[in-house]
Amino acid sequence: MLHNGIEMPVLGLGVYQAGAQTKEAVLTALQAGYRHIDTAAFYGNEKEVGEAVRESGIPREEIFITTKLWNSMQREDRQQEAIEQSLEQLDLGYIDLYFIHWPVPGKFRQTWRIIERAYEEKQIKAIGVSNFLQHHLEELSVTANIAPMVNQFECHPYCARKELRDFCKQQEIVCEAWSPLGRGALLEDTCVCQIAREHQKTPAQILLRWDIQNGIVTIPKSVHKERILENMQLFDFTLTNEQMQQLEQLDRNEMHGDPDHFDF
Ligand code: NAD
Repeated sequence: MLHNGIEMPVLGLGVYQAGAQTKEAVLTALQAGYRHIDTAAFYGNEKEVGEAVRESGIPREEIFITTKLWNSMQREDRQQEAIEQSLEQLDLGYIDLYFIHWPVPGKFRQTWRIIERAYEEKQIKAIGVSNFLQHHLEELSVTANIAPMVNQFECHPYCARKELRDFCKQQEIVCEAWSPLGRGALLEDTCVCQIAREHQKTPAQILLRWDIQNGIVTIPKSVHKERILENMQLFDFTLTNEQMQQLEQLDRNEMHGDPDHFDF
């Protein structure tokens, strides 16, 4: 439940680099029971996501679509244009959750104002930020009228971001993990594999269950049917406190994208 009362499914399908397989992957996921898809203008596949949703036959309001405003559109007052482009590409009437993709320095506060306006005009049902660290959230709060409902950032046991998660929780901002599988790297970790054997689950399921038990929304990416199905079998087992601790101890602050040193 987001702080504006909107409900967001805790599991979604990520479609970064899904390319020509996007539409098929989204259709497969929707047929399997996923009700949340994470795309972005930058991924170049909003159109395919929209097509899959329309062709699925599932009522629009049962599906939660998130997309993001790309960095180059935070310049030269192009934010409203970016929102309109995403609405047009998706062609689903509205966006469930719209993110600022990265905290472009000197720009994101103004971008947020424009996103707030689109929210007030009901083009967007919920608004959030992505890749914001605590200092970005604090800077945003000085001028924001509406606090972000979600922060989507890189999060997995190798990059656990416990302090950021705790700060978001205090602020009633829901945490969402990108690269929840560490883009595959964590699937061979000895500790993850050991816990997987203990539950007769796969390493991917252990990593995604770690998110769920931490109250983190998770959006694993796959275009393969068997993995899309595997990644949703998360609700028939529970990690023990000890296993949760073991996973937390794997943290080594290993990032694929550092918000403080991003090439904007
Ligand atoms: P991920 O951690 O979801 O890993 C994806 C990789 O793991 C793929 O190579 C996939 O084939 C493989 N995989 C998936 N399920 C598997 C399984 N069950 N067994 C074995 N391998 C499996 O990485 P990601 O794609 O970087 O992140 C997920 C989503 O997060 C993206 O698709 C995108 O929607 C979002 N994202 C957002 C940002 C951002 O800046 N906001 C950045 C990166 C990703």
